[in-house]
Formats: sequence, C-alpha cells, structure tokens
Amino acid sequence: MDIIIWLFVAISLTWFMSYVRASLSSYTFSFAGLMALGSLFDIIGIVSWLLFAVIALPLNIDNIRQQFISMPLLALFKKIMPKMSTTEQEAIDAGTTWFDADLFRGDPDWKKLHNYPRPRLSTQEQAFLDGPVEEVCAMVNDWHTTHVIADLSPEVWRFLKDNKFFAMIIKKKYGGLEFSAFAQSRVLQKLTGVSSVLASTVGVPNSLGPGELLQEYGTKEQQDHYLPRLASGEEIPCFALTSPEAGSDAGAIPDYGIICHGKFEGKDVLGMKLTWDKRYITLAPIATVLGLAFKLQDPDKLLSEQQDLGITCALIPTNLDGITIGRRHFPLNIPFQNGPTQGNEVFVPLEFIIGGAKMAGQGWRMLVECLSVGRAITLPSNSAGGIKATALATGAYSRIRRQFKIPIGQMEGIEEPLARIGGNAYLMDAVTTMSTGAIDLGEKPSVISAIAKYHLTEKMRSSIIDAMDIHGGKGICMGPNNYLARGYQGAPIAVTVEGANILTRSMIIYGQGAIRCHPYVLAELAAANNSDNEQALNDFDHALFGHIGFTISNISRSFWFSLTGSHFLSSPFSDNTHRYYQLLTRFSANLAMLSDVSMLVLGADLKRKERISARLGDVLSQLYLASATLKRYNDEGRKSADFPLVQWAVEDCLYNCQHAIDELINNFPNTAIAKLLRLIIFPLGTKLSRPCDKTAHKIAQLLQTPCATRTRLGHGQYLTRDGNNIFGKLEQVLEDITHSEAIFDKICNDLDKKLAFTQLDNLAELALSKHIISTAEADLLVTAEKGRQWVIAVDDFDSLELTAYSSAS
Ligand SMILES: Cc1cc2nc3c(=O)[nH]c(=O)nc-3n(C[C@H](O)[C@H](O)[C@H](O)COP(=O)(O)OP(=O)(O)OC[C@H]3O[C@@H](n4cnc5c(N)ncnc54)[C@H](O)[C@@H]3O)c2cc1C
Repeated sequence: MDIIIWLFVAISLTWFMSYVRASLSSYTFSFAGLMALGSLFDIIGIVSWLLFAVIALPLNIDNIRQQFISMPLLALFKKIMPKMSTTEQEAIDAGTTWFDADLFRGDPDWKKLHNYPRPRLSTQEQAFLDGPVEEVCAMVNDWHTTHVIADLSPEVWRFLKDNKFFAMIIKKKYGGLEFSAFAQSRVLQKLTGVSSVLASTVGVPNSLGPGELLQEYGTKEQQDHYLPRLASGEEIPCFALTSPEAGSDAGAIPDYGIICHGKFEGKDVLGMKLTWDKRYITLAPIATVLGLAFKLQDPDKLLSEQQDLGITCALIPTNLDGITIGRRHFPLNIPFQNGPTQGNEVFVPLEFIIGGAKMAGQGWRMLVECLSVGRAITLPSNSAGGIKATALATGAYSRIRRQFKIPIGQMEGIEEPLARIGGNAYLMDAVTTMSTGAIDLGEKPSVISAIAKYHLTEKMRSSIIDAMDIHGGKGICMGPNNYLARGYQGAPIAVTVEGANILTRSMIIYGQGAIRCHPYVLAELAAANNSDNEQALNDFDHALFGHIGFTISNISRSFWFSLTGSHFLSSPFSDNTHRYYQLLTRFSANLAMLSDVSMLVLGADLKRKERISARLGDVLSQLYLASATLKRYNDEGRKSADFPLVQWAVEDCLYNCQHAIDELINNFPNTAIAKLLRLIIFPLGTKLSRPCDKTAHKIAQLLQTPCATRTRLGHGQYLTRDGNNIFGKLEQVLEDITHSEAIFDKICNDLDKKLAFTQLDNLAELALSKHIISTAEADLLVTAEKGRQWVIAVDDFDSLELTAYSSAS
C-alpha cells in the first residue's frame, strides 16, 4: 500500500466518521484499525503510533480527559458566560421545541415532518365556522365599525358573547367551547377577512390573558368563579403588562404591590396595595376584570423571608376604588378597544393572585409560557386570513380592471407583486396550520411561535402594500367599498404587539432557538451553573465532547454539500420538490455550523451582536417556513396545479436563506474566519436566485382565474355571495367577467372590430339586435357591466361628511 493511498483513506475515514457523527470511541477504534493496516504495509512506524497514543489516550480515558481538558474549559466557560437574569432564564425555560430543533441541528428528518398528522376540525368546530362565524361576518360592516361608531355595534357585541366567541379556549366544563388551536386559527382567519377590529376583539381574550392564565395556573376557586363568567361574556377580560417605562423590556415594569394587612369588603385580610400605570391595553376601556402584572414586595416579610418576590399576576375587578380605566387610545384608525389604566394603592386580598399566594413571584414564567402558545395563534392567523382574502380580491381586481385595453393583471409589472401575494398567502396558511397543529399535539413551541409571529405579520405588511400598489387610486381612497385600506393601516399594529418585530428578529428567534434547539448548549449552561462540582464536570465533559463532534460534523457536511451541490442527499420525494429537500438540508447543516462558529468566536458578545443573531434567526425561520409549505403541499395530496405556489414560496425561502448567510459572512466580525466560512459554504459562489418570472406568471394567472387552486388558496374565508360581502361580491363579478370575455370575443369577431371592454350593457343590446348572442348571454353582459362598474368605483363624500364629528352625530 502506498503512503498516498493510506493518507487518502485516512482523510476519507476522518471525513466519513465526522459526516455520520460517529462517537469519539468509534472514531478512535477505526483509526487504530487503519493504523494497524498501515503498519502491515510498513507505512506506519513507531513514531506515528506514539503520536496517536499521545492524542487518543487522554481523549478516551475519562479521568485524564476531564482533568486536563474539560475542567480548565469549564472554568473558562464559567468566566466568559454572562450570568443569566431570572427573567432571561425563565424565558428560555418556557415552552418546548419541536421540528424547529431538527432544522437547527443540521439534519432534518423529512419523514418525521410529513408524518405529523394534518390538523382537522371537529364536527362542532366546523359547525361553528359555518354557523355563528358566518353570521357575525354578515353582521359586521367594517366602515361603520371603523369610521362611524369606532367600535363594534352593540348587536355584534351581544352576538359574540351569546355565541361564546370569547370562550374558544375555555374548557367545556366551565361553559366554554374548548376548541383546538387549529380551529381558533380558522375562526380568526375568517373574521379578519371581514374586519380587523372584529378579529382583534375575538383574538385577545382567547390569547394571552386571564382565561388562559386561569386555566393553566388558577386556583379551583378562581377557575370556578371566573371561567364560567368569562365563557358567557359576563366578564370582559384584559391583560396589562406594558407600562410607559417598560415596553419591550417588560421585565422592567415599575408597577408594584406591597404586601400588608388591610380591610377588604369589611374584613381584615392579608393583601397587597397595588400601584400601576399601564398603557396600550387591549379591551381595557370596557374590561370588567383586569389581569395585572406587577412586582410584588414583602418588606415586612409577612408572606416569607423573601422581600422582593418578583413579577406576579393578579386578577383585579375594574370597579374597585383607586382604579382609573375607560380612556381609549386610537391605534391607526383600527378602533378596537384599547387604552391605558392606572391604579393608586388599590388594596386587594392575596387570593387575587392568579394561582393564589403560592404563585407570588411566578408571573413572568406564567406569561412567557402562555405567550409561547398564544403568539403562534392570534397574530399569525389574523395575518394569514387577511392575506388570503387580499390575494383573492387582488387577483379578481387585476382581471376586472383594464388599462391599455387589457386586464392590468396581464402586465408583467403587475404579475410580480401578484405572485408575491399568492406565494405568501399559500405559505402563510401553511405556517398557521403547521404551528397550530404542533400546539394541538401538546407542544408549547416558543421558537416557532416567535417565527410565525414575526414573519407572518411582516409578510402581511409587505403583501398589503403590494395589493395597494396594484389597486392604484382605488386602494387609497377610503370609504365603505375600500377593502384594503384598513388592513394597510392595521398591519403595523400586528408588527408591534406581542413582542415588537425588530426585537423578535434580533433577540428572540435565534436567542431562544440557539439555546433551546441546540443539542448541547443548554446542557453546557446547566453544567456551568451546577453547584455540585463533580456532577458539573461530568455533565460538561459529556456535552463538550458531543458539541465538538457535532461542530466538526457540521463543518464537513457543509463543505461536502456545497461542493456536490447537495445532489447526493436523499429526499423523501423524487418529483419536482426533491431538490428543495436537498437544499433545505444543506442550509440546515450550514446553520448548525454557523451557529457554533458564531458562539465560539463571539462568546457572550453574540447576545449584543444582534445583526448576527438576527441573520442566524432568519435562516432558521426560512427553513421553518419552507418546511411548512412542503408539508401543506403533501398534506393536500401533492396537487400539481398548486405547484407554482409551492415553487414560489420555497424558492423564495431558499433564496432568503442564502442571502442571510451571505450577509452574515460579509459582516462576520473576524475576517479570517469569515473567509474560511465562505470557502466552506459557498466555495462555488452563491447560486440560487429568486423565483423566476415564469413562476410569477403562472401564479398571476391562477389568482385571476376561477379554478380549484384559487379556491384552495382562499379556503375558509368569508366569501358568501350576499350583497354586503365585498369579497363575495368580487368573486361573483370575477366569474361574470371571465364568462363575459368569451362572449365579448365572439362579438368582436363577428363585428370584425377590436372593441374596448367597457359599456358591456350597450354592447349586449347591439349584439342582441344583430343576433350575435343569445338573451342569456346579453343578460350576463349587463350583469357583468354592473359588477365591473361597482368594482372600479371609489367612494366619495359630501365635504361635511368627512369632518371628525359629523359621522357620529
Ligand atoms: C395596539 C396595541 C395593543 C397592545 N395590547 C397590549 C395588551 O393588551 N397588553 C399589554 O400588556 N401590552 C399591549 N401592547 C403593548 C405592546 O406589546 C408593546 O407596544 C410592545 O411590547 C413594544 O413596546 P413599546 O411600544 O413600548 O416599544 P419599545 O419597547 O419602546 O420599542 C421601540 C423599538 O425598539 C425595538 N427594540 C426594543 N428592544 C430591542 C432590542 N433589544 N433589540 C432590538 N430592538 C429592540 C422594538 O422592536 C421597537 O421597534 C399593545 C400595544 C399596542 C400598540
């Protein structure tokens, strides 16, 4: 055997063992075997064996390895790792990881993804969607709500309460509906297509708030008292965390409670005096019960030895003395009930703490745990529902509205934003389905919920801007017939609430993901914080060497995938999606490697290097969004007609992954390592491009033509063809127009003229008189013309009507 061959085999073995993530002992044994073979052929001599022994023995003998390698590294790790605050620790501990962990770890199991059950509605849930949800959609007039009365009408409020819209999460034994997360999402999607005030009003009590907190943590007495009253709408809840001084940094709330004795309802009780100043609180102006977060202090040690108990949540009836509540904020012309509240030394018994006195100081943990569920439902569903309705309406408008004698949707410039709207609508629905499906499987997916909240609200905002551009002046002039402007105005609200998006992208997605999803970091951190030194060393040693093997493996996998274009990777399908799985696995390996290298190079500074962690979070997010899209395609039976939507969405995600990695490497603080990273990840350059024009053209066609794919895209939206439903009416006009086009072409042919597609009613009369068309066809042209005129019309007002108080008076 030649030395060159031996070296080649040694390198291949090293690469293979790291690729398959072999253990240290398997690697040592295989290498020893190879060394023995080398000795047989006189290639390996005594010096090589000695060198091998010097490296391999300490690594494989636990005591030596721990003493000389792991122990000093543990000491260094303890020194450089910043102390985690309790609030940070509780945020990290909250919730669970799910498929996000697979994506983070560099080797996603695609079969597992496709084996997760597809969420389904129960008969009761479907009946609710077909019954009360349809009914309330028909009752709400969004212009009246937003412009005239700045609230839902009293009839709508009554209907919502009577039909338990505020009790979707409350268990049946308390009189609630006990719906799945998937069903809640479908309800919100439908409502939001009609009115964002309606969807927010229903969404909030079902999201993070007293109902959720009581069910999870309330005492039996609290549950028995409040839950039936919340279910029936007798009590209206709100939840107040944010204060003027503490928005994103919610753990820094200055609001406080002091434990003391006092009189409540005539009796001497141990209680707390609460003082708060909160703002932006949804439903506060009409709430009867206020969920309040504050910092509890026990200066006289009446409850325990601890004086600062920490963030605590309590339920406070809003009619107590000392409470100011009722004033309203005016969030961007979307006048759902939202406002400030203050309390000055309001005395309440300790039993008002959610979960009772034993839960004093547990408030932050309660909140972050509930948020890991709620954040995946309300805002993502409102965004997905909004964009689905927008996609259908904009597709219809693009076909109906003509300029330069052709539908504007045939123009290439319009096809581009149309494709973005269509592709995003498909993806967003897929993400809400997969994320709520995870919740229904028992997960509390904190990282996924942050991804869904951030990306879906961002996509909603960019898509509604696309839709506005396509509609031109029709989108801009407000009035009862403008179906876009309120969505456009409201989009930044969703971006801001439940963790403002810049913060969510910069800190939460990767910050939580890195620690929660990483196979070793959490264990290393736990070991570093363990006061039992022996156990700490054992745990750290185990995690550290696992971590080193994991990193080496991701480096070798990343390089191999880049060099081979990932063509040799297996994929669960051999059709036109197979390449997507290969590329996603490649980017997943890149993410795992980049994440470890960033942690290694930046250490604790990574927390402050927000633009690095934001880009790592972007890669994780795009992998998740693409996975959800592919899952939807598979769950819906891999219908080839839907493929352009899948193609656009997944190729957009892949391009965004590449872009995020490219930017990360360009801006990596250590230039030498950045060069090495580029060599490993992009040795042949960046190859992927955005979805192509052909795909965009196909999607634009799909959105403008009544067909099964289009119907699936808008599935579950309120499209009932009654006179008040703008979206239903648009669907009807689209159908009438598409049927009329054939009749119109027949008339043009017969008359041998290229006519303008206007005044179809006059044309119908002429063509009927010349026996070119039948009476039924003429009737259709007349109807289509009426619809067309309605679609292109914009609202106008008497100038007095627009002054601030005229509409209400
Ligand atoms: C309409 C509406 C309804 C609301 N409903 C409720 C409710 O029912 N209950 C409740 O308690 N609260 C509610 N909120 C409050 C909401 O959650 C906060 O507005 C939000 O947390 C942001 O706080 P802030 O507005 O004070 O912004 P700030 O905290 O001042 O943030 C300003 C900007 O700085 C960014 N930022 C902050 N920290 C970082 C960081 N570390 N890295 C990068 N960027 C950062 C933010 O992303 C944001 O872009 C509501 C708000 C609104 C507007």
